[in-house]
Amino acid sequence: MPVGTRGAVKAVTQRDLRDLDAEIILANTYHLYLRPGDDLIARLGGLHAFIGWDRPILTDSGGYQVFSLAAMRRVSDEGAEFRSHLDGSLHLLTPEKATDIQAQLGSDIAMVLDECVASTAEIDGARVAMWRSVRWARRARDRRLQLRDGSLPGVVVTNTGQAQFGIVQGGVYPELRTESAQATIEIGFDAYAIGGLSVREPPEVMYGVVDHTARLLPEDRPRYLMGTGMPDDLLECVARGIDMFDCVLPTRNARNGQLLTSQGPMVIKNAQYAEDDTPPDPACDCYTCRNFSRAYLRHLYIAGEMTGATLNTIHNLYFYLDTLRRIREAIMFGTFERLRQEFHQTFSRRTQQ
Ligand SMILES: [Zn+2]
Repeated sequence: MPVGTRGAVKAVTQRDLRDLDAEIILANTYHLYLRPGDDLIARLGGLHAFIGWDRPILTDSGGYQVFSLAAMRRVSDEGAEFRSHLDGSLHLLTPEKATDIQAQLGSDIAMVLDECVASTAEIDGARVAMWRSVRWARRARDRRLQLRDGSLPGVVVTNTGQAQFGIVQGGVYPELRTESAQATIEIGFDAYAIGGLSVREPPEVMYGVVDHTARLLPEDRPRYLMGTGMPDDLLECVARGIDMFDCVLPTRNARNGQLLTSQGPMVIKNAQYAEDDTPPDPACDCYTCRNFSRAYLRHLYIAGEMTGATLNTIHNLYFYLDTLRRIREAIMFGTFERLRQEFHQTFSRRTQQ
């Protein structure tokens, strides 16, 4: 899922996303709640109508941004009290409030509010946050079912078919992940996500937790790994049972001049590309690689032209979406292991020289 934080995937238009065949995008509840506000979006018919996108949208709960962006005041069983990073105003995000905001936005998939802790958290802290997240998940589910039966006062449900995903927490501790998975499945959600990873822990640690947790989740529901990752993470986590991903990396890195290619990351501003008339990634069929050279993209970056960010973003999103298309094909044809080996042979995390 390309990330469209404030209702826009940065540097590209919805037309570009359709051309890239993005099947679903992610939008951030925290940002849209603060500006322009979920009430306004509901009055305009919901998020799909507001942003002109008729394909699926997933919204997060807002929790991750509250814990990472806002000035936190207090976390209690009731919810998370925070000050807006925009104007300093005081807000309380509860499991019910996060559910209501997403009902008004009318995304196709809503996430429950969970408490995010650092991956370096000690086991006792991770356990407290995990059980609080389970209690919050129960309340979010109850609220969602109430909204399904008919609108509550002050909440406009703009998408009656909205699904709700639960989130398994528990840091890097397998025993906590097991307890969290059991308790979350018992509540009963449309599908399940693995949260609290890709927060700077080493890849092997993340793969270990994914391996342990994915096999605890129902086989007949999509499994969503939140906030991951590098292109090789996609293959390794699909191999461990993951179906859905989101990450700001392809779009953010594009704006910073880093292209992710079949060989690995490429820093387009480097002087070595000044007169290089080859495509950014000769193995890529995207609009950018079919039409433009490394020399041109380097020039746009150095000159600060907005088009540079657009062309880089189109390439990076294509590379991610195409990698997943190839993974799906390989699974259907029974050749996934071969694809996995080939990918690792050419792709390196080190920046290309
Ligand atoms: Zn390309």
